[in-house]
Amino acid sequence: MGKVLIIGAGGVGTVVAHKMASLPTVFTEIMLASRTKSKCDAIAEKIGDKRIKTAQVDADKVPELVELINSFKPDIVVNVALPYQDLTIMDACLETKTAYLDTANYEPLDEAKYEYKWQWAYQDRFKEAGITAILGCGFDPGVTSIFTAYAAKHHFDEIHYLDIVDCNGGDHGKAFATNFNPEINIREVTQKGKYWENGQWVETEPHEIHQPLTYPNIGERESYLIYHEELESLAKNFPTLKRARFWMTFGQEYLTHLRVIQNIGMAGIEPIMYEGKEIVPIQFLKAVLPDPGDLGENYTGETSIGCRITGIKDGKEKTYYVYNNCKHQDAFNETGAQGVSYTTGVPATIGAMMYLQGLWKQPGVFNVEEFDPDPFMEQLNKQGLPWVEEHNVDLEL
Ligand code: NDP
Repeated sequence: MGKVLIIGAGGVGTVVAHKMASLPTVFTEIMLASRTKSKCDAIAEKIGDKRIKTAQVDADKVPELVELINSFKPDIVVNVALPYQDLTIMDACLETKTAYLDTANYEPLDEAKYEYKWQWAYQDRFKEAGITAILGCGFDPGVTSIFTAYAAKHHFDEIHYLDIVDCNGGDHGKAFATNFNPEINIREVTQKGKYWENGQWVETEPHEIHQPLTYPNIGERESYLIYHEELESLAKNFPTLKRARFWMTFGQEYLTHLRVIQNIGMAGIEPIMYEGKEIVPIQFLKAVLPDPGDLGENYTGETSIGCRITGIKDGKEKTYYVYNNCKHQDAFNETGAQGVSYTTGVPATIGAMMYLQGLWKQPGVFNVEEFDPDPFMEQLNKQGLPWVEEHNVDLEL
């Protein structure tokens, strides 16, 4: 059906390559490119599919990307490198008139700021060029946004209160590790909290608001209100929302490590001089922390991520909870990666499939909730991330 170029050979890239290789009628040709080609080669060798080509590319450099795209001529580029590369890859897609998909919004390197404004600014140029950009197609953002669209389409006349609840009930056996790129992860969880209420953003101190929530098959976990990027697009695309919040579970041990890391300055993103060389503390920290890609083998337990929604149906208030649970061991057995990479890589694969099948193909820049959620929801059940719905239950929030 189509040719795909995957950029980024980390934990998520590993899952995307595995999943795409398992769908040969959809992804007829696959190229995996990243900064370090040997990582792409190792992934391709492990999958053992001769159709996977590999290449080296510095995705910070538009001319390098344009050259690679022009030589391989993919129908779509799937960006699972880092959020810093979003704009250069979008520029290269514009120049070569190629569709684009990512899982995380652009972030400037020198400022931990999560906003869609930089990528939404490409709307007119993508429209005029007649190409599609699909933004935020991982799990959160991604599946959580599609869950919301599905609820609004099928179960409510108006949605009023949305709480996205993200629990990693797994244990990797390390004193401290992050589940995806440490630099991006620590930048995300140490920022101030923020949620949408009555048409405006309410800011909180980091981890100021928290409460225990019960997660299916996991149990009660302390959950912390943090800002998460899909809140911005969901507040815009679902104007009936009176409130939208995001909750993530953290263990005490994790929070203690995080506090120490911050207190001693290791979470800093400003360069400092060390023995005559400029280093960025958080990038140095990443180099000494466990590689998230290596956590899979001994990872036990599961993730549970979903949306708890209150709204109106046929004049009556109703509640709705839709979620997926994913076992780390199942993810590892299938792809060699842990659950957090798996729950991100599978939706990215399905998003690219939606594009190639012509179901999500429209000129312009779109967040995933703007497309029809139905075919995507159907594929989640088929591709390893089945979901469960509960109606009129206590949402605890
Ligand atoms: P990793 O750090 O494991 O992998 C990132 C990969 O990108 C590495 O292989 C890295 O290369 C490569 N890369 C970095 N910079 C460049 C560059 N300039 N040019 C080419 N390649 C580059 O991260 P993850 O796999 O954990 O995460 C990938 C993406 O997924 C991130 O953007 C993350 O924010 C997002 N994500 C989204 C989630 C969601 O639910 N929406 C959840 C989890 C992650 P090298 O190996 O040489 O360093």
